[in-house]
This record gives sequence, C-alpha cells and structure tokens, in this order.
Amino acid sequence: MNAPHFPHRATGDYQQSDAAHHLHAFVDQKALNSEGARVMVRGEGVYLWDNDGNRYIDGMSGLWCTNVGYGRQELIDAASRQMKELSYYNMFFHTTHPAVIELSERLFSLLGDRFSHVVYTNSGSEANEVLIRTVRRYWDIMGKPGKKVLIGRINGYHGSTVGSASLGGMAFMHEMGDLPIPNITHVDEPYWYANGGDLTPEAFGKRAALSLERKILELGADRVGAFVAEPFQGAGGMIFPPDGYWQEIQRICRQYDVLLCADEVIGGFGRTGEWFAHRHFGFEPDLICIAKGLTSGYVPMGGLLMSRQVGEALVERGGVYAHGLTYSGHPLAAAVALANLDVLEKDHLVERTKNDTGPYLQRALREAFADHPLIGEIQGVGAVAAIQFAKNKATRERFSDEAELTWHSRTVGFELGAIVRSTNGRLIVAPPLVIDHAQIDELVGKMRQAVDATAKKVLGNRG
Ligand code: PMP
Repeated sequence: MNAPHFPHRATGDYQQSDAAHHLHAFVDQKALNSEGARVMVRGEGVYLWDNDGNRYIDGMSGLWCTNVGYGRQELIDAASRQMKELSYYNMFFHTTHPAVIELSERLFSLLGDRFSHVVYTNSGSEANEVLIRTVRRYWDIMGKPGKKVLIGRINGYHGSTVGSASLGGMAFMHEMGDLPIPNITHVDEPYWYANGGDLTPEAFGKRAALSLERKILELGADRVGAFVAEPFQGAGGMIFPPDGYWQEIQRICRQYDVLLCADEVIGGFGRTGEWFAHRHFGFEPDLICIAKGLTSGYVPMGGLLMSRQVGEALVERGGVYAHGLTYSGHPLAAAVALANLDVLEKDHLVERTKNDTGPYLQRALREAFADHPLIGEIQGVGAVAAIQFAKNKATRERFSDEAELTWHSRTVGFELGAIVRSTNGRLIVAPPLVIDHAQIDELVGKMRQAVDATAKKVLGNRG
C-alpha cells in the first residue's frame, strides 16, 4: 500500500471540520453533526477502511457505482496516461478528441444498431436534465411542439437537480424548492408488495402500467412527449416490477407516440447480469440515461444515449442543439470509462454476474431470509436485491415504523463491518460485480446478523 495522500488526522478532528463545512446528502445535518460522519480513507476490491482501521465489505458499490470494485490499476493507469497527454479539452469550438470517440464507439457497439448518439454529462441528474430538453426539442422539430409533458412515476428517482428531481416522484424532495416544474407529472409505481392488495403481481403490474395510459388519455396524447422510469426502482427501494409490466408500458408508449426513456443510471453496466437493465426486462427504450457504472464511479461521468430515430432527427432536422457542458466528454472521464469497460469485458464480469455470482447472491439471500420472521419478500436479480420487512407475511402488512427498523439493521450492519442501505421498509444490496462467493457469504451472513438483531429488538419489545 502506498503512503496516504493526505497526512493522517484524528477521526474527531476530521468530523469536527466536516460538520463545520458540509451539508451531507439526504440527512438532517444537525443530527449527523452530533454523531459525526464516518471517515472513509481507503478502498480495495469490495472492501473499504475507515480512519480508525475498521474494514467494511461494501454491499452498496459505493452508491451503486463501483462495479469493478475499488483501486483497479487499469483505471488508475488510464487516468494517469490521459492526464499527462490531454488533461482537458472540450466539445465546443468544433473540436473533439480520441478518448471520447473511442468511448462512444465502444458504447454503441454494446448497445447495438438501434442507438446512435450520445450527449455526455457529469452525473445522472444532468443526464435527466438533458433528457427533458432533448425530448422537447425532438418533438418541436418533428412538428409536434405540443408534446411537452414528461411523465415519471411516484417514488421514482432521477436525481437532485431541478428538472431531475421534478421527474422523480419523491414528495419530500418536491417540498424543497417548489417542485415539480411545469409539464411534469407522475403515475403509479409497480410496487406490488405495498400496493397490490388482493391482486396477483401480474394483474397489479398491468394496473400500474395502465395508470400511464389513463394519464396520457387524460392529458391528450398530443401533449405527452415521454415516459421516464428506472427499469427497477433504485433509491425507491430496489423495487422490481411484476412480469409483463414493461411490455404493457412499451405497448402504451408506442400506441400514443410517447418516447420511452429508461433511466439506467443504476441498472446499466452489468448490475442485472445484462449490459443494460432494459434487456433483462425485455423492452426497447428510445432514450437511456447512464452514469455511475459507466466509470465505476472513479471519476464523474454520465450521458444521455439516443436511439437512431431521435439522434438522427436531431442531426438532420434539428439545426443548432442549444446545449453544452464544459466537461461533456471530458478526456479523463472518457479514458477511465473505456478502461472500466475493458475490465468489465476482460474479466467477464457481466456474464459472471448473470451466470455465477448473481445467482449465488440471490440464492444466499433467499436461504438466509425466506423464513425469517421479519422478512416478507426478497426481490432481485444479478448483483442487486432488496429484502422487504413485514409485520405479517400472510397479509403483507407492514410495520408502521418500518423505516426505523431497516435503519436499525443498516446501522448494526455498519457496526459489524457490512455496508447495506435502508429505504423505507426495505434493506437493499448491490455489491461490486467483482465480489466472489466467500465475500457474498460474508456480506449475507452479516446482513442476517444485523436483521436478527433488529428482530430481537422488535420481537423482544412487542412480544
Ligand atoms: N437516476 C437514478 C436512477 C439514480 O439512482 C441516480 C442516483 N442515485 C440518479 C439518476 C442521479 O445521479 P447523480 O447522483 O449522479 O446525479
């Protein structure tokens, strides 16, 4: 191991300074300050170390992004070579550069002939921002300028900026900053466990999909430009839609001439055992948002991928595309993304997730939790999964304080040295794709210990 980049400081010292300067994501900062943030200092493979030398197995791939794990030399070398050769240039001024060209060739070879164009961004939020403007531009040039409305889903997540948080369907986010912006609306989420009532998952999935058709008919198809959704909801709780949901959504979008947009910021680059999550679910989007796994999070990069139909229309008929980001296609990010795709291919990480480690993880979770008194459902495929807390498995009744219970499990998990995440009533995992069987056993074993601790607390208190 190399000497640390920064001289060592005591954890309390870091925490004090952190508290003085930062507003952390999605927390009550005052509460966090009283406790102090955990200081992470090193990562290697699927493990992280904090400033006090504690080791954690990272069941969340950072934030669903470190698909190739931490510290891969190939990505470090690519970054260093590119920084020496061309540390920055842009795609303004009628210029381009080899790194971005090589990356795009590779991406479109993975995507197949249906897709042709991309606008790169720095993040998933920005990819969704670009999407909003691009959809509206597309319909303008197609002679249908009235198709301005974008439809997202309740409890969907597409980012934290004004447009992307508007597309997302999280009410508590809308409360901050007067969102959503005009011409964005939301339809039902396909969360059978919570909302399915007496319906079978398939019947409920169809009903959730039909809420899109109802909304289009209510607004008028001549006003609706796009439907935007995550193939499986990530931040909403790793919610997997019932079989047939996406087929019905695709039918509706085609019937009413509405662009079908997949936010693959989490789902892309192998997470489900396919290169792109829409392939796992069997539908064909017109636009795709990417980020996270594109660079395995080593440097920021995202993008909006466009089908040939959209991309070529914008080029042939669109005139000036009045949009540009200083760091769009940044050479460093592009070089790292390419090296990341090289690692995913060279180590067969996508195939491995589909055929080996993914099934192993899914089996291990089901073995550990199928009969657990606190767990009502286990969902997932490949290297992504959720376990749903339930008060009564037979009726699917949920705990009124489910968010506190999953938070408890997540916190015990951290103390045991395993990072998982809690969202409402679900505990979610998405480990790096490089995880092996023994590490999966370690992760699932610690999760089980954590949920057992919560069960003891709940059952102990409630008899
Ligand atoms: N879309 C989805 C599906 C996401 O999960 C996220 C981030 N968790 C985003 C968009 C936003 O990406 P970023 O945080 O890079 O802006």
